[in-house]
This record gives sequence, C-alpha cells and structure tokens, in this order.
Amino acid sequence: ILAKKIMLNIVLFGPPGAGKGTQSEKVLKKYNLVHLSTGDLFRLHLNNETALGLEAKKYMNKGDLVPDEIVIGMVEDKINKSSNVIGFVFDGFPRTINQAIALDNMLEKKNIPIKQMIALKVDEKELIKRIQNRAKTSGREDDKSIDKINNRIQVYNQETKPVADYYKKHDKYSEVDGIGEIDEIFIKLCSKIDDLIWNE
Ligand code: AMP
Repeated sequence: ILAKKIMLNIVLFGPPGAGKGTQSEKVLKKYNLVHLSTGDLFRLHLNNETALGLEAKKYMNKGDLVPDEIVIGMVEDKINKSSNVIGFVFDGFPRTINQAIALDNMLEKKNIPIKQMIALKVDEKELIKRIQNRAKTSGREDDKSIDKINNRIQVYNQETKPVADYYKKHDKYSEVDGIGEIDEIFIKLCSKIDDLIWNE
C-alpha cells in the first residue's frame, strides 16, 4: 500500500470567465481540497451586509480590484480557520504581485507552499460571451454591463497577468486549454494535478 501524506496547494488562474469557479468545484470534490475563492467570500460578505462586504462592494460593482490589504486579511483569516486540510484550491487569488508575495509568506509560516499555478487559457471573445451568458442567472452586478466586463478584462491584463510571471519565475506555472467541454477541460486539469501528486 502506498500511503503518503501529501499537501496540495494549487492556484487556479485565468481571466474572468475562464471557468475557474466551475473547474474548482470539480477539483475540490475529486481531490478533497478546500476552496478558497476570494470572489465567493466577498459575495458572501456582500449578501450578509458585513462591514467588509460594504467596503468591497464599492470596488466589485465597478469591476475593480478590492485593495490588497482587505483581500489579504480575509484570506489569512480563512487559512487560519481551516484546520486538517490536505490543501487549498485558490480561485481568483492572488490577483496582484503583492497578493502573491503575501500568500507565499503566509504559507511559508505553515510550511505548506503552493505546488503549482494552473492557468486556464481562454481568448477574450469567448470570455465576454461566457460572462454575458452567466449574467442571465448569476445576479452579479459586475456581469451586467459590457463596460464592466471590459473593465474587468482590462484590470486582469494590467494587474493580474503579471502574477503568472511570478509563478513562472519560481518554476510553478503550467497551463491548460480552457476552451471546450467542461469535462474535457477537467480531464486535462486532472492529468496536471495527478502529475503533481506523483512527482511529490
Ligand atoms: P471573481 O468572483 O473572482 O470574479 O471576483 C469578483 C470581484 O471580487 C472582482 O472583480 C474583484 O472586485 C473582487 N475580488 C475577488 N478576488 C479578488 C482579489 N484577489 N483581489 C482583489 N479583488 C478581488
């Protein structure tokens, strides 16, 4: 019997509409990991009208990034509250270089580094199509107008894309074609994750 205790922290990366949320859900179930979606956490705060939610709303509804110190504090809190986990799937975080550095520092303290960033590659035309489709059911203010969608893509290109280079520099970057059937993309993702597990 091969029984090895593994820690598996993954960053699922990509622009808005790339399928991070959809694929995360499937990955969590299969590998028993904990979801850490900053977008979902903010939306929960927003629905509960917490002080954090009201602050975040100002940025979210325009499609801008919430300031780093707010995001980082929220993530640190979530990590500290999760005990007995074999790993996290970070979804929508880190979105800036500052956040990536802060995450590395947090995980270093706990001795559970990020194994890999896996980026979902989807072109802009497809992203816009997907978000506009999601808008019909998501109830998300930031899915509603083309201006907000375009702003989010622009923010991604300017502030978030460089985070991929950060992980490339640390030899922790890989990518998967994010176009196609959900299950087909999931299979490709799993093959990357299985490689990480076997190369432990
Ligand atoms: P998402 O669900 O990941 O698309 O996030 C929705 C919105 O929440 C973003 O457009 C931002 O306003 C905010 N948000 C989520 N994650 C972050 C993050 N890591 N840094 C800054 N803002 C974030």
